Amino acid sequence: METPKEPARPLRAAVLLAIGSELTAGETRDTNSGELARSLADVGVDVAWMSALPDRLGTVTATLGDALVQADLVVTTGGLGPTPDDLTREAIADVCGERPTVDPELERWLRHLFERRGLPFAEMNLKQAWLIPSATAIPNDRGTAPGWLVERPDGRVLVALPGPPSEMRPMWQAWVLPRLRQRGLGRERVTRTYRLAGIGESAVAARLGERLLRAENPIVATYARADAVDVRISAAAGAGRSAAALFDEAAAAVLAAVGEHVWGYDDDTWPAVLGRELGTRGWTVALVEVGTAGSSARLLSEASWLTSARTIGAGEPGSGGALTHLAERARQEADASIGLAVRAIETGEDTHVEVAAVGPWGASESSQTAFLGGAEGRRRAALAAAALLDSILREGAPG
Ligand code: AMP
Ligand code: MG
Repeated sequence: METPKEPARPLRAAVLLAIGSELTAGETRDTNSGELARSLADVGVDVAWMSALPDRLGTVTATLGDALVQADLVVTTGGLGPTPDDLTREAIADVCGERPTVDPELERWLRHLFERRGLPFAEMNLKQAWLIPSATAIPNDRGTAPGWLVERPDGRVLVALPGPPSEMRPMWQAWVLPRLRQRGLGRERVTRTYRLAGIGESAVAARLGERLLRAENPIVATYARADAVDVRISAAAGAGRSAAALFDEAAAAVLAAVGEHVWGYDDDTWPAVLGRELGTRGWTVALVEVGTAGSSARLLSEASWLTSARTIGAGEPGSGGALTHLAERARQEADASIGLAVRAIETGEDTHVEVAAVGPWGASESSQTAFLGGAEGRRRAALAAAALLDSILREGAPG
């Protein structure tokens, strides 16, 4: 890419287009856009919108035209193959008002590829050697379709990548991203996710309030995940204030509202967070669960500190009685530091959840009614078990 003469247009807002009728027919899922969106979020670029389009020239050209008005950066994937239905190049040439020609260097490279494989070169393939004057070819080490990086006169940038993720991904990571970074990509941004337990998403939203949840910057959003309710704060520098200052303000408000429910950050998982607390004490855990179909063992799977996990069906021998006894027995049998017992009992449409933990500090218990029964109730039983263990360890059980 040539060095721009003017200070380059900062690339802050992007549009992502996935092109291919297999996507709009529901035969292939558009994973490319999600991957690119994640990568752009990491470097502080906002994705204004993303869309999947059929292999129809008029639709692709019109949408490209809109995107190039609304965003600084447009990234397309798909439609770069040699067949007549692949027409991303035609659409870009139309939008730019330029005529594609066969680039001699690309043609040599392409013919050589076919020779090396001992394949006849169909003239149709020449389309993959096309360039327009404002495009630079993006090398493709894993396929026959080079990408295009197009610089618009107004400083906007259009990037076209092939559809197969195994080609698109390395081209984006190794070639496109470093070049876009050089030219000024995104805004300084500070992002953090708080992971919560013991509170539902709607209660979190109610506590945070509309002002925080509707603000454009910082963006504060809640997500109900299988293992937590997440609150994500993403602050971008703006209005004369640093991203860090804006983030700190939002984080203080979030923590004041729901801080007591936070058990982890960002990529934290239950096995990892509990593992940190247990590890400093050198403790292990034996788990026994009743009526949960193994949901706690699944939540805590791959935790090196979990020495044994046993599941008993509700009503089976050994499933009744005081839960602390079950926990103590599990602890002794496995020779673990802690015995953790969970019991889920469906009560009509809800689930009654009991948890007991026995360890060097003594015994602790909790019980609650989890909203919903079935798999959802069992999932919540597992979360209650993890949360009880977490609170015991945080409250400084001796080690
Ligand atoms: P193309 O560049 O249009 O020739 O894409 C060829 C293949 O890439 C398709 O048949 C799909 O298997 C895959 N592909 C295309 N677009 C996407 C997408 N957005 N996400 C995931 N895979 C895709
Ligand atoms: Mg295609």
